[in-house]
Order: sequence, then C-alpha cells, then structure tokens
Amino acid sequence: MNDDQLLRYSRHILLPEIGVEGQEAILAARVLVVGAGGLGSPAAMYLAAAGVGTLVLCDNDTVDLTNLQRQILHSAEGVGRLKVESGRDTLLRLNPFARVETLARRLEGEALDAQVAAADVVLDCSDNFATRHAINRACARYRKPLVSGAAIRFDGQVSVFDLRQAESPCYHCLFPEGQEIEEIRCAVMGVFAPLTGIIGATQAAEALKLLVGCGTTLDGRLLLLDGLSMEWRSVSLGRDPGCEVCGSRGEA
Ligand SMILES: [Zn+2]
Repeated sequence: MNDDQLLRYSRHILLPEIGVEGQEAILAARVLVVGAGGLGSPAAMYLAAAGVGTLVLCDNDTVDLTNLQRQILHSAEGVGRLKVESGRDTLLRLNPFARVETLARRLEGEALDAQVAAADVVLDCSDNFATRHAINRACARYRKPLVSGAAIRFDGQVSVFDLRQAESPCYHCLFPEGQEIEEIRCAVMGVFAPLTGIIGATQAAEALKLLVGCGTTLDGRLLLLDGLSMEWRSVSLGRDPGCEVCGSRGEA
C-alpha cells in the first residue's frame, strides 16, 4: 500500500481483525455484484469505499424515476441511463482507485460461469428467482461463496452460502425450484427505502469478512429482519442431502 492508501484505509487497518494483511486481501479482491438496484447500491458503495480492488457490476436495466427512492447509486441526472454506467460513476467518485467493470446484460450461461469463476465473492442483489437459482448453480459449480440478500415491503433477509465448507447448504437447499412460490417483485410491490440499505450493507459486511477471513459469517444461517418491529431473527439452515444442486458434493 502507498501512503494515500494507508491513510484512506487507516480505520480498517486499526482493526486488529483486519489490519494491513486484511486490507491487502480486500485490495486484491474481485467481487461480482449482480444487480445495481436497491441492494446492489449500498453493497457496491461500501465495497468500493472499503477498497475492493475490482468490482464487477452487472445489471441490464436503466435508471427509472421510481428507483431513486432507494437505489442510492443513482441520482436524478441518471434517469434513463444504464444502471451500471450510472453506478460506475458514483463508485468512482467514492473511490477513484477502485476498478469497476460493467456488464449491461442479464448474466447467464457461459458468461455467468466465467464471471463467477473469476470472482472471490459473489453478491446476489437481484430481484427474481430465475437469476438467484442461476447464480447459486454457478457458485456451487465453482465453490464460490455467495452472499444472498432480499428485501420487499418491510421484510428483509440475508444469508451466506459458502460451498467451500462441506456441511454448508446452498440457496437451492433452502428455496427449491418448482415450489411455485409466488414471485413478489419490487417492480410491482412496495419496498421501504432504508430496508434495502440495511440488507445491502449487511451483504457488504459479510463479503468483506469473507475476503478478510475474520469473524463468523452467516454461512448456515438465515437472518430475517422485520422492519416494522425492527426485530432480527436468525434461523439455522441445514443442508439438503438430496439437493440437486449441491447434494452430490464430494462424491466424484
Ligand atoms: Zn443445495
């Protein structure tokens, strides 16, 4: 680290759990953030400010007036622009030394595989089950830790699926596909603005802990927030041995 970096990240370096070594791990990291909306905004901003070396921001959408109530990566001048471009500008204003790669497309197939394989940590900040399951499959395939968040109305949830650990569940163990869960989308439902900030910032915290290797992550736990009563609940998650995504681990 140069003198500017030592100063910029001094409040991290002062934490014995992070220190110079932890900050260097953050600076060397590559983090994939899928979704540059309500959750991706605070998550990417904290990750960029904290010094994550390369952030890959993926979103195929453009900024809409209805986004501005909670998607703090974007501002009024950004309406109509691609979210990844508006987001990149904000992140580089926060930290000109961050490298921000943008993918203005729905990430799927080989492109998704390549991005997940190249990432140290993956953040699912998307808003639909198809994307969530596709990201989970890729993370399971490449054994990449996945930090998953969701926020709707006043309800938030966040978890970590770290398939480097033998006994850890994956997203599919928790939410099997084909359950015909009614898809609730922010596009048509209300969402309390700071809820996305709380959940997205929690995702950033878990990602940084994974990169540094400090503390205890939410691996094997689902954290649920009721924003109306402002109560958190933590639920233990077990692995589904019959899970079609992660069930055959280690049998090859
Ligand atoms: Zn599974």
